[in-house]
Amino acid sequence: MSVPSGRHFLQIPGPTNVPDRILRAIERPTIDHRGPEFGRLGMRLLAGLKEVFKTASPVMIFPASGTGAWEAALVNTLSPGDRVLMFETGQFAALWQQLAGRLGLEVEMVPGDWRHGVDPQAVEARLREDREGRVKAVCIVHNETSTGVTTRVPEVRAAIDRSCHSALFFVDTISSLASIDYRHDEWQVDVTVAGSQKGLMLPPGLSFNAVSEKALAAAGAARLPRSYWDWEAMLTANATGYFPYTPATNLLFGLDAAIDMLLDEGLDQVFARHARHGEATRQAVRAWGLEILCSEPREFSNSLTAVLMPAGHDADDFRRSVLEHFDMSLGNGLGRLHGRVFRIGHLGAFNDLMLAGTLAGIEMGLAVAGVPHQRGGLQAAIDHLADGRLVQSQQGTMKSAAAV
Ligand SMILES: *Cc1c(COP(=O)(O)O)cnc(C)c1O
Repeated sequence: MSVPSGRHFLQIPGPTNVPDRILRAIERPTIDHRGPEFGRLGMRLLAGLKEVFKTASPVMIFPASGTGAWEAALVNTLSPGDRVLMFETGQFAALWQQLAGRLGLEVEMVPGDWRHGVDPQAVEARLREDREGRVKAVCIVHNETSTGVTTRVPEVRAAIDRSCHSALFFVDTISSLASIDYRHDEWQVDVTVAGSQKGLMLPPGLSFNAVSEKALAAAGAARLPRSYWDWEAMLTANATGYFPYTPATNLLFGLDAAIDMLLDEGLDQVFARHARHGEATRQAVRAWGLEILCSEPREFSNSLTAVLMPAGHDADDFRRSVLEHFDMSLGNGLGRLHGRVFRIGHLGAFNDLMLAGTLAGIEMGLAVAGVPHQRGGLQAAIDHLADGRLVQSQQGTMKSAAAV
């Protein structure tokens, strides 16, 4: 195997590339997490996160992977035997279901084909049937990272409202927050679950619960055992910028930088950038003559694209070849998609040239691994990216002409 030079391309859909500014922020001596400097940092972070989640309610930070924040959402709001409604959109929905089952919740899983998001009509129909109000929470994954399919959260919210059901609404945004438009308050989500290592551009190790008033009220009556994840202890300490136990201090230095970067760029620009990269990637895949796993265009994910391998070709052999020859990591097929898809991460700290490099690596990899395809995917993508820039600069010219 050749010795790689230059930067590794980490194009899995999380963990994502950590930008230099964040790496430098993390690389500082750890400070006293009970001291005054920490309190100021804590207050700043907890305020900044509200902007990212688009909420006026508290956002809590756990030193944990995203899985921890899944558990925190459930144990703080529910009681043993409570029924939760979940949707089999892919591997992450399936893992959240498993976790809920192990906690002693009764999970009703609506089956799915792993190529579509949650069907709002199915949500409405199921909740209308539940006349005794047994369903206590509806749990959905905003962006299914195993499939590259995004669920239309506001439509699911509207479906819950139409059914006049009082269930709590929980959304996993681990691979969508800070890359795909998301609005905790406006969409009346009760608990938003997120993680550090995807759109937030940080290393793994932090996860989040944004909560609503309704969720906080539910926490008062919930009887599942909780200790580490307890919101009450967390909120009490957070009021002055501190934590009930030792926080992941250096990751919080990184989070401070990440929030600055996102707000400097502007969340709308961040979403637009991801949309452009998502569309350019899909144009490349189509030009190669390969199939995008997501079968509903309005549910295409802008943070990753899952690509089906042609019959008789193993996705992991292809990924191994790309890693060996071009030092790039692509996402593997998870669960029932094992060996059948590879996933291209195009989220986080990412730009046009990084995307062009990624797609060049895939196109070369397809050739080297002998996977049947047509050339021209990279060209289709850069045409799309350049066209977008051209429109932008023409609009800029028109604006400055108007100003004159
Ligand atoms: C990555 C991911 C998770 C899992 O998070 P961990 O940090 O691995 O615990 C859960 N849900 C979604 C949608 C994800 O993308």
